[in-house]
Amino acid sequence: MIEEKTILVVEDEPDIQELIRYHLEKEGFSTLAASEGHEALRMIEREHPDLVLLDLMLPGVSGIEVLKTVRFMWHKRELPIIIVSARTDESDIITGLELGADNYLPKPFSPKVLVANVKALLRRTASVLPAEDAARPALIEAGELTIDPDRHEAFWEKEQLSLTASEFSLLSLLASSPGRVYTRGQLITGIRGNDYPVTERSIDVQIASLRRKLGDSGTVIKTVWGIGYSFQDKQ
Ligand code: CA
Repeated sequence: MIEEKTILVVEDEPDIQELIRYHLEKEGFSTLAASEGHEALRMIEREHPDLVLLDLMLPGVSGIEVLKTVRFMWHKRELPIIIVSARTDESDIITGLELGADNYLPKPFSPKVLVANVKALLRRTASVLPAEDAARPALIEAGELTIDPDRHEAFWEKEQLSLTASEFSLLSLLASSPGRVYTRGQLITGIRGNDYPVTERSIDVQIASLRRKLGDSGTVIKTVWGIGYSFQDKQ
């Protein structure tokens, strides 16, 4: 008997969500749906879908944030993700693919093409043997900082930093996009699922601790007043 594959449809437009689910279920897939980013992350964590169809423009946590969390924080490199979005700016497509989406389908889409893409991607990912290298997340390098997500090690100028799990996640998230400003809420979403429930206040505490551990170089973590934090590798 063929195992039934479960597809998570992340889409805030009810009609489109319904349309996608209908066509997938007609082809024998079982489906789950989320209409906003937090819900999508919760479902990925709890329900372990076999593939995710991800809209980018979502209320609250955006599709790009969902993608980043899955790939950079949770290291779920093996989870197939197809972006389905009306955004057709080249830069959005490139960002999505660089962040590890497997494919990009512009809206409006043909349901048949969408289903064909889902099947093709599932076939492709099923045929790839879980080689050690394929599962190994890439190093994050920003200025003097090097982070090895696989070994859970961070180095500043080749000197290893002694970080807690949450500090490690926080620094990885910030350094994965130097110059990008994260709100405290985005940082909380990014490091969720670590050692304890994260609050906005605890983000401030952990940032302070990270800066202390970085010593003179602690200034690479900038406070952006009224917004949040950013990693700046160029002084
Ligand atoms: Ca949308």
